[in-house]
Amino acid sequence: MELQDKVAVITGGNSGIGFGIAKAFKNEGALGAIVGRNSETMKEALDTLGSVFTGITGDVTEADDLEMIFQKAFERFGKIDVLVVNAGGMAQGAKMGPVTSTSEDSYDKFMDLNLKSVYFTVQKALPFLKDGASVILIGSVAAHQASSDMSLYAAAKSGVISFARGFSLDLLERKIRVNVISPGIIDTPVINKMVPAEHISSVKELWSSNIPMGRIGQTEDIGNVAVFLASVKSAYMLGTEIIVDGGISSISK
Ligand code: NDP
Repeated sequence: MELQDKVAVITGGNSGIGFGIAKAFKNEGALGAIVGRNSETMKEALDTLGSVFTGITGDVTEADDLEMIFQKAFERFGKIDVLVVNAGGMAQGAKMGPVTSTSEDSYDKFMDLNLKSVYFTVQKALPFLKDGASVILIGSVAAHQASSDMSLYAAAKSGVISFARGFSLDLLERKIRVNVISPGIIDTPVINKMVPAEHISSVKELWSSNIPMGRIGQTEDIGNVAVFLASVKSAYMLGTEIIVDGGISSISK
């Protein structure tokens, strides 16, 4: 048990990668809170996680909600040892596109969710985080390679990777370690939000054929690495990034 009695708060813990991290943490003895907005997926996630995890409904792009989230988690558990800043991806009402046509409104919505919310999630958590806590940010391999219509997302995730270094420096005195996991293509509900239902299986096949390991990543692949970063086994890691992508960003097939 790598995380026995550790208290974790995981934003976006009701779906995909965040839920995979919550399950991996629970298997290692952790307890804590998952944060999201969708009550249906929240209920489903909590049914699987059981009573060691609680759900907190909130919007990570709203400062008041962030304050409420950490206040509630602290009141319930009395401490926070691990923070996973995972909520992100598709921003409601924003359309990803090339620089030639993306609107200012889409820019703001996209950056609010994928960059600004990361900054303020960490800031609002700080009064409640234990000294020596582990903060895990979720980046993306998109930060390292341009793809069509993804420049905003890539820039936001590059910023997240940079935050890990800056925050680690800002928080040295409190011995809070901030590191990033950058996933490659992971099988989560985000795929259903991006690809029409009738094309999902062919798109997944195409993606798999381009990944050196020959498969799309599973949420467990990220959960296992998050356990490592949350645990004392990564005690000497500070402000760094772990890429978990089946080789796609570094090996061409
Ligand atoms: P999902 O769509 O499955 O999950 C996104 C999660 O974020 C949901 O739990 C959602 O909760 C939460 N969320 C989104 N907006 C808000 C908000 N405003 N307030 C609170 N919660 C919010 O996607 P993934 O699991 O795939 O993505 C998780 C993270 O991993 C993201 O940061 C994404 O950029 C990153 N990532 C994903 C990759 C992939 O291939 N899947 C690759 C690289 C990085 P709710 O629905 O309740 O709002």
